Amino acid sequence: MGREPRRVRTRFAPSPTGFLHVGAFRTALFSYLLAKRYGGDFLLRIEDTDQKRLVKGSLEHIIQSLNALGTPYDEGPDRASVAALPEAYGTVDPALLPENGGAFGPYIQSLRKARYTEVVESLLDAGKAYWAFETEEELAGKRAACDARKIPYRYDRHFRDYDLAEARKRVADGERAVVRLKMPTEGPIRTVDFLRGETLWDANTQDDFIILKADGLPPYHLAAMVDDHDMEISHVLRGEEWISSTPKHVSVFQAMGWEPPIFLHTPGVLGNDRKKLGKRNGAKPLLGPVPEFDKNYVPTGEFLIGYLNQDGILPEALFNFLSICGWSPGNDREVMTREEIIEAFDISKISPSPAIFDLEKLQWMNGVYIRSLSPSAFYEKARPYLPEGLDADYAAAAIALEQERVKELREVPEVTDFFFSELPEYSERSVAKWLKGSGAYLAELDSAIAALPEWSVAAIEAAVRSVAASHKREKGEATHPVRVALTGREVGPGLFELMAVLGKERLAVRFKKAKELADGGTDS
Ligand code: GLU
Repeated sequence: MGREPRRVRTRFAPSPTGFLHVGAFRTALFSYLLAKRYGGDFLLRIEDTDQKRLVKGSLEHIIQSLNALGTPYDEGPDRASVAALPEAYGTVDPALLPENGGAFGPYIQSLRKARYTEVVESLLDAGKAYWAFETEEELAGKRAACDARKIPYRYDRHFRDYDLAEARKRVADGERAVVRLKMPTEGPIRTVDFLRGETLWDANTQDDFIILKADGLPPYHLAAMVDDHDMEISHVLRGEEWISSTPKHVSVFQAMGWEPPIFLHTPGVLGNDRKKLGKRNGAKPLLGPVPEFDKNYVPTGEFLIGYLNQDGILPEALFNFLSICGWSPGNDREVMTREEIIEAFDISKISPSPAIFDLEKLQWMNGVYIRSLSPSAFYEKARPYLPEGLDADYAAAAIALEQERVKELREVPEVTDFFFSELPEYSERSVAKWLKGSGAYLAELDSAIAALPEWSVAAIEAAVRSVAASHKREKGEATHPVRVALTGREVGPGLFELMAVLGKERLAVRFKKAKELADGGTDS
């Protein structure tokens, strides 16, 4: 009889140990896409059994990041389970948490201790695991002995056949002990990776690894497998650094008589320089500059979280960009909506070689998304980057002139600041180059503009052209002095458009100042 196809259930299982890196998030995104492609479930599971590495605030950061990027979890931490965590986790805004996290909870490993103990006990009972009593010093000695002989260290399995009743007595008496899994001693251990196929691992290279630490919590190697089984995960997508641990993981499934999920190890994400993605070549926290994880950032709304709130990448653009970071729908399409990506997503088209995080491409793509916004949506998105207290209509009209050109929202204040200051900033260089000698020209323009009966881009252009003609000025000679006079810059949005937005009063003030600066030059 054929096996029932499993419901597609995937998980993102980060440890709350700091900010979420784009590489980790890219793998989470693939898990999300796979689940959504088949109408399945995407889970968030917090892997916190290594309590020493806990970083306050990172739990909230993980959840905020998933929401901000548009990959919220179907099942995961809920209010009650988060409330049960000690203070060291920091707080999580309850608005971010579901009332009920799902039928397989809690989704936080430190709250699942009893279940892991149960599994470990059953492995002990079945003779598939054993208590080991070496002290830290004894283990260090064993390791040193291997080092001295220049052979790779493996635990010598000293307690592998130790009497269980005896061992339990010692544990009950409070002796420090760990539980180790009995790994096969011969024959290959077979693992299958969805992208790479089968690997046969020599049993001689495998260790009887620890499945319960002396502190009573299991390490990742046990906890994650128990959870993947219990939570009915169908596909484990995780970073390729876990490939060499897969023999351990399939051995846990085998020992328990469980069917393993499909493993797919995602190739890493490298920087443009083909080196590991780090601060140097583009890696950033998804959640803005939060190295301290203190509570000084309290962003809300969709910008908040941005890797991208620093730079102003739109979440849709990041979603799209990361989806093609190591995956391609098999044609040349790159710009796709969320729905198109989900529809096309196919794990067999994940590239087996490392993906390149090409920041320039992300910026280009973000530009595409920015251009597709309506002017009012663009204004709403750009608002957090603009100074406060601006007149909304004026600011919206001003920045609309740059919508075609900006690639990141953070550029908006920089390229539009001349609209919002009393006077532009004039550099000595452009004053010398474009204003000196243009005083009379600017004076006449000032009067012509002031006298315009109708305010439109066309009327402004006609007026400027006619004054320029009477001064025998053509092309750059006609427009550059005006642009510099009004904006302080030599490049920028369309001159007549920006004049129309600035309006008569602001233009008059600027022409006056520019004429003063032009004074002293010889006019043409
Ligand atoms: N907790 C592991 C990590 O943060 C997750 C690996 C996995 O997805 O299984 O690296």
